[in-house]
Amino acid sequence: MIKTDPPIEMKTAYEMTEWLARYGQTERGGVTRLLYDQKWQEAQQALQKEMEAAGLVSYFDDAGNLYGRLEGAEKTDAVILTGSHIDTVADGGKYDGAYGIVAGILALKSLFKQYGQPKQTIEVVSLCEEEGSRFPLTYWGSGNITGLRKEEHIQELKDSSGTTFTEAMNAAGFGLGHFRKAKRDDLDCFIELHIEQGEVLEREGKAVGVVSHIVGQRRYNVTITGESNHAGTTPMPYRKDAVYTAAALTQTLIEQAKKTDPDLVATVGRMEIKPNIPNVIAREVVFSVDIRHSEEPLLESFSTAIFETFEQICQVHQTGIHIENWMNEKPVPMCQKLSALSTDILEREQIPYKVMTSGAGHDSQVFGQYVPTSLLFVPSHRGISHSPDEYTKSEDLEQGVQLLKKTLYELAY
Ligand SMILES: [Zn+2]
Repeated sequence: MIKTDPPIEMKTAYEMTEWLARYGQTERGGVTRLLYDQKWQEAQQALQKEMEAAGLVSYFDDAGNLYGRLEGAEKTDAVILTGSHIDTVADGGKYDGAYGIVAGILALKSLFKQYGQPKQTIEVVSLCEEEGSRFPLTYWGSGNITGLRKEEHIQELKDSSGTTFTEAMNAAGFGLGHFRKAKRDDLDCFIELHIEQGEVLEREGKAVGVVSHIVGQRRYNVTITGESNHAGTTPMPYRKDAVYTAAALTQTLIEQAKKTDPDLVATVGRMEIKPNIPNVIAREVVFSVDIRHSEEPLLESFSTAIFETFEQICQVHQTGIHIENWMNEKPVPMCQKLSALSTDILEREQIPYKVMTSGAGHDSQVFGQYVPTSLLFVPSHRGISHSPDEYTKSEDLEQGVQLLKKTLYELAY
């Protein structure tokens, strides 16, 4: 059993992320903390104690989100919210999500100590779930707060051991009516501090990333239908080779993406070949297409054009094509006013930063559709994430906390 009390008073973000990583620590030095499991419960309870020790009033909502509140003297019905998610992927890193919570607690603690009560209420939140790593549903934490997710979305869901979502939630002590209702109508804004999970900041020598947009994503399954035949006796001109077509389409997709816009990314990450036998020409290939960009019109025009080209290539190859679009998430702009608060501070203090898009979704993607939202990144060493090797330097973690603290000060005091 892990002791939930910290052995020392933790002053740095590094110390605190190390401490939090003990809840769910894996053999390889990573963290596995899945929604509502034992380690998740212990982590939330430990964080609650930390929030109380930091002088915050703590409470849970009925989805399992944990809050620490620093009450404002004047404006109490428009809450400035900061934080991130406590859950991880299996054998994930110490910083993804956890850092944003730790940073929020440290920033609030330090603000309270230095300046006392703010004018406007600030809360830090440890969101119960973002990753979708236990149940096939993401953003359960931020989704409950904003109303995007409801109980009806979890009725059919089970984890890999057959436990239903509702059973897991109830076993951890949560569920409708157990605590304060999760949906909130009193939020003024949301600020999330997160590791980049990419290597742009490190490569460019920047300490902070200020996110302008979370990119939109479109995902497709493309099915190419050819004709199976003997690999030795079918002359090249007579073939309807699905692999050949799939290869041509993949090359076209990637070359066009490179030509179109530096921020456009397109990926074929999965390919299934039938019958997948060395001496048989493939009759079918199904492959995935993932396209992302921060501007919806560009996503739209690129996707339309690329699939027209796909059809033309298939005609030439005499193969059939079926395109299924199964995900279509629009880009989410972050709040320019909030971003400007942070960039002003960074300019003033001569801290190197980059205004950038986020190629990954975060809780900010959900909040950003609901309240003014700001997403701030600190560097990830070599861009490694969702891995025990995830690492951010202590001084970068600290820099992020200071920026968050100063941004919150500008807003609330
Ligand atoms: Zn995350």
